[in-house]
Amino acid sequence: MLLHPVFVRGNPLDHELELTLAKMRDSADLFRELARARHDRSEGQRRARDLADAGAEFRQDEAAANDDLRRRRRDARQLEDELQTLENRIADRRSRPVTDPGTVLAVADEIRKLKVRREELEQRLLETWQQANGPVQDVETEVRREQVDRRRREQSERAERAGRAIPEIEGELDHQLGKLPIRLGRKLKQIVRRHDEPIADLIEGSCGGCGQSLPPQEAVDADRERALIVCQGCGRYVVARSSRRTRGWG
Ligand SMILES: [Zn+2]
Repeated sequence: MLLHPVFVRGNPLDHELELTLAKMRDSADLFRELARARHDRSEGQRRARDLADAGAEFRQDEAAANDDLRRRRRDARQLEDELQTLENRIADRRSRPVTDPGTVLAVADEIRKLKVRREELEQRLLETWQQANGPVQDVETEVRREQVDRRRREQSERAERAGRAIPEIEGELDHQLGKLPIRLGRKLKQIVRRHDEPIADLIEGSCGGCGQSLPPQEAVDADRERALIVCQGCGRYVVARSSRRTRGWG
């Protein structure tokens, strides 16, 4: 039994071109998807890397802050020890019995100086403790570090997701290109070396890939699916986004 193709209109070439253009549209969608997935993968990787750097810097800052904190606490302990020693000396001076007025005066003067010194130490200790505690800043740092880590994970996942999708899209695209006339499929593979998306949309008489206006007749032919048009500016095929049948031509 001989099977005759069913033509919508009388001209079999017309019908063939229509089918080819439909396959080109499907291919264009896949090229677009592939380009997006590749962009997502590289962009996700780049951002994850930047965020990892930012996170490392944060951890360095945090380590520096912790060192500072430890130093202040050590200073505070030293001040406390010094204060205790002073208290002991003051108590010791007071407890010693003195008789001659000269010694009484000398001891009183020494105690006064010790008290001044004690006040200084107490003030420094207070300041040291105030700086060493700073809990508000610690919480903020922690929250920001978690945000950076979370965003880095999100970007890594985005890159991984895109990376997994790429071979699937490539397989589908290969299959789709295999359905096109051999020479056309080969031509598209050549163009794709220069442009990620070798099939551009026809946008108001211009190539959607590079923006160059098509010669008026070519624009009309592309729009009415009368011919396969190649942009003289960038070498991409220029195809109307939807079939003329869905747009009411015919
Ligand atoms: Zn172009």
